[in-house]
Amino acid sequence: MVTNKSKVYLSSPHMSGHEMKYIQEAFDTNWIAPLGPHVDAFEREFAACVGVHGAAAVSSGTAAIHLALRLLHVKEGDTVFCSSLTFVASANPIVYLGAEPVFIDSEPETWNMSPQALERALQDAARAGRLPKAVIVVNLYGQSAKMDELAALCEAYRVPMIEDAAESLGSSYKGKASGSFGRYGIYSFNGNKIITTSGGGMLVSNDQESLHRARFLATQARDQAPHYQHSQLGYNYRMSNVLAGIGRAQLEVLEDRVRGRRAVFDRYYEELSYLPGIQFMPELNGTFSNRWLTALTLDEREAGVTVSQVLASLADENIEARPVWKPLHQQPLFDGAAYYPHSEQESVSDRLFRTGLCLPSGTNMSEEEQTRVIECIVNVMIRKSSISA
Ligand SMILES: *Cc1c(COP(=O)(O)O)cnc(C)c1O
Repeated sequence: MVTNKSKVYLSSPHMSGHEMKYIQEAFDTNWIAPLGPHVDAFEREFAACVGVHGAAAVSSGTAAIHLALRLLHVKEGDTVFCSSLTFVASANPIVYLGAEPVFIDSEPETWNMSPQALERALQDAARAGRLPKAVIVVNLYGQSAKMDELAALCEAYRVPMIEDAAESLGSSYKGKASGSFGRYGIYSFNGNKIITTSGGGMLVSNDQESLHRARFLATQARDQAPHYQHSQLGYNYRMSNVLAGIGRAQLEVLEDRVRGRRAVFDRYYEELSYLPGIQFMPELNGTFSNRWLTALTLDEREAGVTVSQVLASLADENIEARPVWKPLHQQPLFDGAAYYPHSEQESVSDRLFRTGLCLPSGTNMSEEEQTRVIECIVNVMIRKSSISA
């Protein structure tokens, strides 16, 4: 019986309890600014954690993508390739710079960028003499994309890769940290991500020189002069020292959070995977997913219920669940943008959007709350399929 109808969130912030110590330190030393010792330490600790030479802490994941594109000299008239199945923030900075996005479909084994579709897109672009300035590869819901294949293609065409690891901090591909594959990697610390600073992001790279330039661009591109002189367009994108303190305390518990998210996934899997028509998001061999969100697809004919019926039943129980991201090539904002499906016959992202949903996956969700989610899904599926039988 469901008696407690308190809200179950999709993914809510989970503090470690040590954040206040760092915040207090920032206050005690009066480092209340978009720079300071916590920012420097957070960058060092983060870079060590994901195994890269350097990191630049910024105000959001979106800002980190914007800076990465600026570092690659993306400008008006350029094209940038980007995964289609993702949050809009992956592609918005392309448009900030007046460039044109070209969307690349997913493949079924990772739900991420299809090497097959990328290859066709690169061939066409090379033929037209208009190679993209960058390829933005997203690691959806914690699952790494097929990095070997995608990196080989980017190398063959000499196009730099930006890895959008906003959802995949703590994941790995063949033992190497997610986000450390591209020329640049970006992460997000938005409130719903696996660790959070309330809002924030990180740009990482092995190229310290370019990170130095990123910090310059992120602080209004102020030239070295005693007076305020500017010869380039900059932004106000640095992370606050107070928030970097929160980030340091959060980073300490990253491994715990990954373990927790995977445990949430495992329980859903154990208790729901027997149901007809349900398929969980795969974890590609050789990869380790942080399982940021548990995602699954529902074959409506086999299941006897529709995705919207399941979502509606969950909402009735005050449970927050979501469809899978609406592919960007379907967004009115990007009307007219080119799109490369996985194959001529199949658009994988469109299928995942029609059949996919994400379940509450926060590590501070109680066992009882997860039971409510599971019971609700079991009930709606058994009820509906017995009506239609
Ligand atoms: C959250 C997210 C972003 C943007 O991060 P913000 O910190 O919210 O700007 C970018 N890409 C993906 C895939 C995301 O999930």
